[in-house]
Amino acid sequence: MTMHGRNVLDYVKRLERAAGSGRFTDPVEVAPFVAWIRQQQAAGVTRTMMGFVSEYDTRTITAFLCGERVLCERARVEDWLEQNDKMFWEVYPEDGDDEPLEPDAYCVRCDDIVTPINSRCPWHNTYTRAIADLSSIIQIATAAA
Ligand SMILES: [Zn+2]
Repeated sequence: MTMHGRNVLDYVKRLERAAGSGRFTDPVEVAPFVAWIRQQQAAGVTRTMMGFVSEYDTRTITAFLCGERVLCERARVEDWLEQNDKMFWEVYPEDGDDEPLEPDAYCVRCDDIVTPINSRCPWHNTYTRAIADLSSIIQIATAAA
């Protein structure tokens, strides 16, 4: 399903209204989740098989599928996906928890390879060295030994 012109505008307005309602602490768009449900249904997996059986689930999922709701609490969607052995990020790849990780680097104090945050060791807050520098570190250490 693609949206054009007015539909996109309406959709954005509805998103803004829902987001501004204060109802959500960590909202996500319903659309990717709905696309996943439709995919399952196309493969013959019913809503009951997906475990959407409580009155709340039935009502809410119906509202999603009808396009009556555009946002949902993220934790809720996570639960629904997890009960189907699906990870949230598989359905919401662009909504991952974190920024892309920095390349691994060497921390002198850990004396180990770490995944730095802003070029600093997450444990020691010391500046890490890019792994490309490692060979020179090792060479110096070996030469000194
Ligand atoms: Zn460290």
